[in-house]
Amino acid sequence: MNCSFCQSQVLDTFYFCPFCGKVLKDKPLSTTFLKQAGVYAFAFFFPPFGIIPAFKYLKQNSEQARIVGLITVLITVFSLLFAVWLSSEFIEIVSTTINAQFPKDLNLYP
Ligand SMILES: [Zn+2]
Repeated sequence: MNCSFCQSQVLDTFYFCPFCGKVLKDKPLSTTFLKQAGVYAFAFFFPPFGIIPAFKYLKQNSEQARIVGLITVLITVFSLLFAVWLSSEFIEIVSTTINAQFPKDLNLYP
């Protein structure tokens, strides 16, 4: 095939044109262990923004990258549910503490 920028002949497998340096096609996302760990940690600690890398991985052609995307979606969902559960527990504790400050038979509105 030919580079669409400088028309030099390049191989189909090239991601960059060796003559003009322009991007020929997007490089596949890395699926190394460290990269995966980083994406999963991001999805866990910053819900719901983990959905952004998740969709990037789901759009990839390689099966391994799509699995990474799927796992990232699952972690995002789990992390969201966990955050909701944690805040409902927190509200419960706060309201119990506030209620304990007042005697039950205290008449606030005589
Ligand atoms: Zn070129």
